[in-house]
Amino acid sequence: MKGLSAHAFIALFLALSCGCEASRKLIVFLIDGFRYDYMNDLQSLSGFREIVENGVKVDYMTPDFPSLSYPNYYSLMTGRHCEVHQMTGNYMWDKDTMKEFLIGTNLDSRLPMWWEGSEPLWVTMQKRGKNVYMYYWPGCEVEILGQRATFCEEYVYNPSEKNLTDSIENALSVLKSGKADMAAVYYENIDVEGHHYGPGSLQVQRAVRALDMAFQTLNHKIKEKNMQDELNVIMFSDHGMTDIQWMEKVIELEAYINMSDIIKMMDRGPVVSMWPKEAKFEEVYRALKTAKNMNVYQTHEIPGRYHYKGGRFVSPLTLVAEPGWFITESKAKLPFWQNGTGAADAWQHGWHGYDNEFMDMRGFLLAQGPDFKKNFRAGPIRTVDVYNLMCKTLDIEPLPNNGSWPRVEFMLQNSAGTVQPVLLHCCLLAILVLLLSAQI
Ligand SMILES: [Zn+2]
Repeated sequence: MKGLSAHAFIALFLALSCGCEASRKLIVFLIDGFRYDYMNDLQSLSGFREIVENGVKVDYMTPDFPSLSYPNYYSLMTGRHCEVHQMTGNYMWDKDTMKEFLIGTNLDSRLPMWWEGSEPLWVTMQKRGKNVYMYYWPGCEVEILGQRATFCEEYVYNPSEKNLTDSIENALSVLKSGKADMAAVYYENIDVEGHHYGPGSLQVQRAVRALDMAFQTLNHKIKEKNMQDELNVIMFSDHGMTDIQWMEKVIELEAYINMSDIIKMMDRGPVVSMWPKEAKFEEVYRALKTAKNMNVYQTHEIPGRYHYKGGRFVSPLTLVAEPGWFITESKAKLPFWQNGTGAADAWQHGWHGYDNEFMDMRGFLLAQGPDFKKNFRAGPIRTVDVYNLMCKTLDIEPLPNNGSWPRVEFMLQNSAGTVQPVLLHCCLLAILVLLLSAQI
């Protein structure tokens, strides 16, 4: 009897270890506006350096068009292009219901119509009985296809460094205890400083160093909690950032058209959506065609490579500025910000949203953990590729998507189909031990 229970125990142990192989925990970080080259000086960024040495780094990640936040948050979490998932801007307008989607926290932005063009990963996981904990992640407060994240710390403007480190601590605890299968943390400060002071500013460098400190804490706590072999970490950004020169590179629409001919205009900057009055459409279109440093497209003229024109909320006219240029009605309507000195509103020095192939729009991706190769450099990938990678490490069957599996597969330890044989050997061994034990 003693021998039998020992063998059965070994068989059970083997069978369980086989099962554990299949799905590990995942923590993801969405670092808004972190350009691919912000971590070039790895010598002074020990948190980033440890992750790079211990995991995978891609050369850069090309965002979806427009290279703005909400469209790319959703491309990351669905693996689909903007015209497929329908989140085509930070500001959108639905002509039929006259409802507006505005970046931030306005109530109409929670309407299902903006979010249900595709199913994001956290919703799929919730549907399958898994638990997702989300921290400041835009959209986690929204009910999508009847689901919400198990836990959602709602988005606030520019979460603090303490918010970030508290989120890391909390996320690791719930992952370790088994309450969560995935945790997702959003951090905005790099984008905020990039807009205010420009991508090359000391303020951005300081913000990157602060983020590095938080990642040092992350690395330390993963080891402290002994989670190195059970937790995968993937961190990425939605887009990059480029310099803008206010008052010099501004395209003033009032110089070309009468704004009263426009029913609705959404957003200012690199990409502007415009709904002209029907009777004035041709006149407005022809007038805007004469403007320099920007392209004007009727919906069917938008380049196919943008994967944008099929979107439900795309306007009859789309204006796209050349890199560095800013589109607005007039200079008086530029979006200034308060710099806290009590002086006049301050200029902005950085922006994003331009052609997604423009180098400065590129973001980053790093990954570490038991499923990833160590000290491995990968070529460029695209935002839509990340979804398949996350699904694989979570053992979730991905929904149909626009991502390329060959572009990310080789980052994994067991790439090129070696996972299955390993699992098979393991399970066969368990059965053999069980049979042996039955004969004793
Ligand atoms: Zn931004």
